[in-house]
Amino acid sequence: MKNKTQELRALDSAHYIHPFTNTAALAKKGARIITRGEGVYIWDSEGHKIFDAMSGLWCVNVGYGREALARAAYRQLTELPFYNSFFQTANEPAIRLAKLLTEISPPKFKHVFFTGSGSESNDTIVRLVRHYWTCLGNPNKNVIISRWNGYHGSTMAGASLSGMKAMHEQGGLPIPDIEHIEQPYWFGVGRAANPTLTRDEFGVHAARWLEEKIVAIGPERVAAFIGEPVQGAGGVIIPPKTYWPEIQRICNKYGILLISDEVICGFGRTGNWWGCETMGFSPDLMAFAKGVTSGYVPLGGVMVSDKVADVVIRHGDFNHGYTYSGHPVACAVAIENINIIRGEALVTQIRDDSGVYLKAQFEALVDHPLVGEAEACGFMAGLVLVKSKSPLEMFDADLEAGMVCRAHCFDSGLIMRAVGDRMIIAPPLVTTRAQIDEMIALIRHCLDLTYADVKARGWL
Ligand SMILES: *Cc1c(COP(=O)(O)O)cnc(C)c1O
Repeated sequence: MKNKTQELRALDSAHYIHPFTNTAALAKKGARIITRGEGVYIWDSEGHKIFDAMSGLWCVNVGYGREALARAAYRQLTELPFYNSFFQTANEPAIRLAKLLTEISPPKFKHVFFTGSGSESNDTIVRLVRHYWTCLGNPNKNVIISRWNGYHGSTMAGASLSGMKAMHEQGGLPIPDIEHIEQPYWFGVGRAANPTLTRDEFGVHAARWLEEKIVAIGPERVAAFIGEPVQGAGGVIIPPKTYWPEIQRICNKYGILLISDEVICGFGRTGNWWGCETMGFSPDLMAFAKGVTSGYVPLGGVMVSDKVADVVIRHGDFNHGYTYSGHPVACAVAIENINIIRGEALVTQIRDDSGVYLKAQFEALVDHPLVGEAEACGFMAGLVLVKSKSPLEMFDADLEAGMVCRAHCFDSGLIMRAVGDRMIIAPPLVTTRAQIDEMIALIRHCLDLTYADVKARGWL
């Protein structure tokens, strides 16, 4: 066992460039090799059992080890492992999944375009909205507005839409005609922008940044606004409840398309099938991926509302598509996954039961001396590590207090992600109340270890 781990680490360091990773630094330490999963737990090659409070990467929503998903893939692999949808052909799983997706979406969504990932979905959206306005005779209406600290993927268009400066620094991004506005982050941005505003007042204030941007660019140039209902990779930033309705009003007023990036929020995570339903807005396009297959196989797509579909379909060819658009195996797994979510009533369970319980338990962590804020929306939650609560003082960002906490989580058998000094979770939707208790106890234990650690380092 030990020898195999060492062998794998050596091969990993020698040949494998990891995503979003300092490969040289990792080579010194050695990667943790994950070998299997069951329910909400994973195991590494040294036999450690770990509570995966991040659902892999926000995707293993029905938990690990689901036989039904493996069987669906096997059945489809033996019957028809691949066929494309380019040349006036189709396959049954893709057709049935398209229908199923319209059943779980708001009624205006009757069409879907399949991709292989969330990034590809957002690339598709960039092309689709620009094509839409061109079809309507407005080829210069092509600017897409998104937010700083939003995440929309890592392809050229996805990373351009994303508001991550470290990504823009590499590869000559953003591509032309992408603009960013500040995020609706009450704790981090709101109080600094104007400390006299309440959280809900700040929500409206932050939405007005969109209006200012539209007016500055000229509404005749602006094609669309895109945002995650709740920012995920940016640190689980839950906007004030006033934010999205005001965004909707502004998009309607200026006649620009509204796009919901549902790659994390979709498929039940916020207590509705789609995050826009939880946040109270009605987009024209929705990007999805991750939870559609619970991550068992790659699949993504774009839900297209009648408003957009009618124009684009009427116009003729849409010169866009991927080899794996409508991949039969991925679609077969997605159908089975959605049937599991429905059959086990996971969406209403998050809304009415386990999500309510998680929110109460997680938000109570704010009593810990290190925690400045703790908030949850459905099964995604984030807390901020602070140096002092009163007066409120943050840690020096260079200290990377979040990474210190993450290391204690890692060593204590808990996957909790650090985004700056925000510690975040997004556990599998099947996590039970007893497992929520176990997870919260682990988080508390890790916060205590972190507190003792940063104190010993003289950071408090
Ligand atoms: C993960 C993510 C993406 C990118 O999806 P990939 O499958 O990694 O390409 C896009 N948008 C959001 C909101 C995401 O969380």
